[in-house]
Amino acid sequence: MNPFIQLGIRHDIVNAISELGFENPTPIQEQSIPVLLTGSNDFVGLAQTGTGKTAAFGLPLLELLDFEENYPQALVLCPTRELCLQITNDIKNYAKKMGNVNVVAVYGGASIVDQLRQIKRGVQIVVATPGRMLDIINRKAIDFSKVKFVVLDEADEMLNMGFQEDIDSILSTTPDTKKTWLFSATMPSEVRRIAKKYMNEPFELTMGEKNTGNVNIEHEYYIVRARDKYAAFKRIVDFNPDIFGIVFCRTKIETQDIAEALIKDGYNADSLHGDLSQQQRDKVMKRYRDRSLQLLIATDVAARGIDVNDVTHVINYSLPDEVENYTHRSGRTARAGKTGVSISIINAKELGKIRQIERGLGKRFVKVEIPTGFDVCEKQLFSIVHKVHSVVVNEQQIEQYIPRIMEEFKEMSKEEFIKRFASIEFNSFLEYYKNAPDLNAPIEEGRRPERGDDRAPRQSSGVSGGKSEYTRLFINLGSVDEFNRGDLLGYICNNTKISGRTVGKIDVKGVYSFFEVQHDDVEKVTNSFKDIEFKGRPVRIEISGEGTSEKREGGYQRREGGGGYNRERSGSGEKREGGFNRERTGGAAGGGFRDFSGKRREDRGERRRRF
Ligand code: AMP
Repeated sequence: MNPFIQLGIRHDIVNAISELGFENPTPIQEQSIPVLLTGSNDFVGLAQTGTGKTAAFGLPLLELLDFEENYPQALVLCPTRELCLQITNDIKNYAKKMGNVNVVAVYGGASIVDQLRQIKRGVQIVVATPGRMLDIINRKAIDFSKVKFVVLDEADEMLNMGFQEDIDSILSTTPDTKKTWLFSATMPSEVRRIAKKYMNEPFELTMGEKNTGNVNIEHEYYIVRARDKYAAFKRIVDFNPDIFGIVFCRTKIETQDIAEALIKDGYNADSLHGDLSQQQRDKVMKRYRDRSLQLLIATDVAARGIDVNDVTHVINYSLPDEVENYTHRSGRTARAGKTGVSISIINAKELGKIRQIERGLGKRFVKVEIPTGFDVCEKQLFSIVHKVHSVVVNEQQIEQYIPRIMEEFKEMSKEEFIKRFASIEFNSFLEYYKNAPDLNAPIEEGRRPERGDDRAPRQSSGVSGGKSEYTRLFINLGSVDEFNRGDLLGYICNNTKISGRTVGKIDVKGVYSFFEVQHDDVEKVTNSFKDIEFKGRPVRIEISGEGTSEKREGGYQRREGGGGYNRERSGSGEKREGGFNRERTGGAAGGGFRDFSGKRREDRGERRRRF
């Protein structure tokens, strides 16, 4: 038997919700529906957003109201227009197979005339934001004297937004006999107080621990210098190619500024804040819901109640003051049983705030390092590779072009083709990021790591790394070139007379590597690699971390394009030569590093030497 039938929901509703994909009740639905169906209790449900609250109260309302009668029998109050429309829509969907169910959404910023007209036509369920509801009550355009149920959804949010008085006034027009159902993600004392004020021995249901965020959310934080915050933020975004995120700022101005900067830098972002007209807000939200927008930059108020499934990341560009706000922000991800990540980008002074939120949530946050430029490149490269692997081919449409494409590539080996294909986007990332600096803020000398600093801060090893005796060098060879640590050490020892013991960390990546040499040896080492070829390709050595980060962080432009993000190089990147495109030169295949014997090509009259 369908589990919703077992809970007491009738067939026509169950059929409708089955079409919405509701197969099993969520925990809150399982526990609250039987209680609410009795219709005889006041009720307090402490539950996070995204847990299925709307159906938890919506389905019982559809069971309990008399739809033969056309007067207001239920009033649902919620904090925002977005949530109001969502609840209205959800209830209409649950009632799709029932006859004569009239649900009206009442909210500010839209024509009141239309809303009044709908109310006049007859309504059983009113879903409203408090301000506009009160306006309509004051116009004596609605009669709540026979209301049976009042639902206060996201009660903590409504109080945060200062709706206490409006709620009082609205509820004073409803009869004492009504039952009140209150839902809240958090239970601050103000919510306790209104629960006490409006309710009579309510049935209390707590899903999860008090104030504990959704268990499916991972909480991470990054420590950066204030001036690196934007660059760090962009790097995090670049490290997550499939991000579909909401970025929280503290003020409207900050929201606007960040969105503008991102758009300028070619990201697919837009802002949502209170200074936008309702029409503008709707437009942004529609784009976000349709996923034609990847990053939504929002203030707390504007983003309240947003229910978009599949949000992968919530990013706290600025931390909120209250733990409650953090809970609300992070609750925009990991909805409907999915997982999600809530990221905070902070400076070292804000660590105390993170600890405070950790205590409030009873959860440990994980400190994560800002990825290096090369981590980003690698991630992006494999993202492209996975995309190629999983792309759905439109056989019919593409067929006509295949002969021409085949003709174009007929001389090229499969390996070469794959390399070039993957390089299309990868080159731009590499060009942009190859010298990107370490953005992790160093923890000051003498400061003991805070409890929970579960990773030691990075020791900067680039030339600008202060106390380190090593300089970190980049080499454009990696494991795909069958290049390993021993080869590198052997080459350096044989050609520079530097002892292998003085070479620091060697980090061989896929298509490039890093290694450290002492500051005094840098010149010797870089000179020894001059005009060297490896398997026919010129080898390039550079000091990692050189250059002005600001310039480069701002210079890389991404452009939204059909079917994905096309990245274009611009600005500082273009000044650099070559990038990571290794062009084959003069038929010089042949030996890898292992075979290197110090033989120079000049011996044979060639310009470049080879390993
Ligand atoms: P809510 O907390 O009511 O905003 O619901 C969050 C999301 O979960 C919405 O997209 C709902 O459509 C979805 N949802 C609610 N209940 C269920 C269920 N029993 N099975 C599957 N999805 C659900």
